[in-house]
Amino acid sequence: MDLFYRSTRNSETRVKASEAILKGLCDDGGLFVPEKIPSLQYSLKELSEMDYRGVAYAVMKEFLTDFTEEELKHCINSAYDEKFDTEEIAPLTEADGAFYLELFHGKTIAFKDMALSILPHLMITSAKKNKITNDIVILTATSGDTGKAALAGFADVEGTRIIVFYPKDGVSPVQKLQMVTEKGKNTMVVGVNGNFDDCQTNVKKMFANRELNDAIGKEGFQFSSANSINIGRLVPQIVYYVYAYTRLLENERINDGEKINVVVPTGNFGNILAAYYAKNMGLPINKLICASNENKVLFDFFKTGTYDRNRQFILTTSPSMDILISSNLERLIYHIAGNDPDKNRAFMESLRETGKYDITDEMKENLNDFCGFYASEAQTAEKIHELYENTGYIIDTHTAVAGSAYDQYVKETGDETPTVIASTASPFKFTKSVMTAVDQKYASVEDDFELADELSKIGNVEIPNAIEEIRNADILHKTTCEINEMQSVVEEYLKK
Ligand SMILES: *Cc1c(COP(=O)(O)O)cnc(C)c1O
Repeated sequence: MDLFYRSTRNSETRVKASEAILKGLCDDGGLFVPEKIPSLQYSLKELSEMDYRGVAYAVMKEFLTDFTEEELKHCINSAYDEKFDTEEIAPLTEADGAFYLELFHGKTIAFKDMALSILPHLMITSAKKNKITNDIVILTATSGDTGKAALAGFADVEGTRIIVFYPKDGVSPVQKLQMVTEKGKNTMVVGVNGNFDDCQTNVKKMFANRELNDAIGKEGFQFSSANSINIGRLVPQIVYYVYAYTRLLENERINDGEKINVVVPTGNFGNILAAYYAKNMGLPINKLICASNENKVLFDFFKTGTYDRNRQFILTTSPSMDILISSNLERLIYHIAGNDPDKNRAFMESLRETGKYDITDEMKENLNDFCGFYASEAQTAEKIHELYENTGYIIDTHTAVAGSAYDQYVKETGDETPTVIASTASPFKFTKSVMTAVDQKYASVEDDFELADELSKIGNVEIPNAIEEIRNADILHKTTCEINEMQSVVEEYLKK
């Protein structure tokens, strides 16, 4: 039976997975949601005997029902291969009473690789299935990690081009270097004089702009999105929660059916939404703990039921979470409103017009799976420091936000449920903040590569390839623009 996808904003749209992947965003500005969240068709025991690719197939086949077995297996095998520096793909490390699920062993050393190494394959397969002859233009706004992961995934993929907008002064030096040294011939990287929300808002506008879409159509192009709103991003992210659970089971750290908690450092709400889908597929998850940095819109939302973006945007040491509009939250709002597009649309209109909305008490009750915590900059640094002192294990700033949130959760609830913390980036990606947290003496070291060498030494971990690659690479992308120039940059690039 085919699973269809609907829009979070109207009741007419109904498309197959491959069409939803190609389009990224619905025409009405809504997000695609599965008509029904499917159940796992294998027992936890059976899943624990599969490797990462096996689990990926077991999970993804339930969502991408218009892909043949051969097509989907080809996509999975092309994505989860030696590009990852460990055969486990997403290994678990136990430290100080929690299991860190390391999602940073791919090409760009952040968790975005988990989905963006497979998305290009899903997209090309979808294009073939739907007899698309236009070149696909991936238009992406990034808070730092999506950009490079998408560039790495789509670089030199025939029939595609990719344009990445990043906040010029809102990403880490390593993140920036990774993007501006990208060699792919079909790539364009642009620094925007604005923040991530500015980039994301304007990218969304371009997707929804009929005139622009018609104009590029005449040139033989069509837009698609590699942002975390694409279900081709969301579905592969469900896999590693199932995988993590089954590794704990396999290693006898939990009993079959025993519940676990999941803590996710959250920005755009994609990663934690995937955990929510995993839970709804039947994975025994107790609490989904949503961790925010000082941009704590989500913390406030879970506490009060009011989503309010009217506040100061704060630049933190966990830049990939510096977000005030968490796009994927719209899917959760739709679900907790009883899969009601009209209700959801009203909230989203309110968000657009006033920057806020209040959910109903009834909807609030449907949020019981979640709880929200946040970590200040000081708490984030303290977590890195403390974990290193206690165990020698070094985590990055985003993961530390989650670690701190978890500590607060345990303190508040006394809950002893085994807990998986999504570790979303390698500490090598945020060397300066990480090393300064480990020891204040590193604050005076200016050179990120010198710090990387030191991190490798004191943490007893090899320097990832992604860092070696950019040590001496040439800067190839120097374009910058103002917020209101983003569209003309795109138009210019597609004329060539
Ligand atoms: C993108 C990102 C996040 C936030 O994930 P969302 O799916 O946007 O909530 C957290 N940490 C890192 C390192 C990231 O790159």
